[in-house]
Amino acid sequence: MADTRKIPAPVVTAETRTFWDAARKGRFMIPACGACGKSHWYPRAICPFCDSGRVEWRKASGNGAIYTFSVMRRAKEPYAIAYVTLAEGPTMMTNIVDCDFDALRVGQPVVVVFAATENGPPVPMFKPA
Ligand SMILES: [Zn+2]
Repeated sequence: MADTRKIPAPVVTAETRTFWDAARKGRFMIPACGACGKSHWYPRAICPFCDSGRVEWRKASGNGAIYTFSVMRRAKEPYAIAYVTLAEGPTMMTNIVDCDFDALRVGQPVVVVFAATENGPPVPMFKPA
């Protein structure tokens, strides 16, 4: 269990269905461009770097580093919200779980974990590597 909070189910759209189907199998996918080769986040039909429509899903390493974070201590169950820069390049907003909030630091290596949601696919979060 990555987190004890109740996480609402994510909204699955046509552009994110592949991502969530993979997440249900514990696979972390991110979109990458078949033309320029760069990965991006969030999912889009058109590459934000070169405007190509040749966007495809690739399995990501699951490795990243904390770009910035904030610990929400006033919540009933405190949690850490963060931007994590993935090894593949993109930065995503996420939560840091399974950690000592006081020990988190910018630049810290993290790895993806999937947190269960209420009646939906699991969502990617990160924990210290
Ligand atoms: Zn591109």
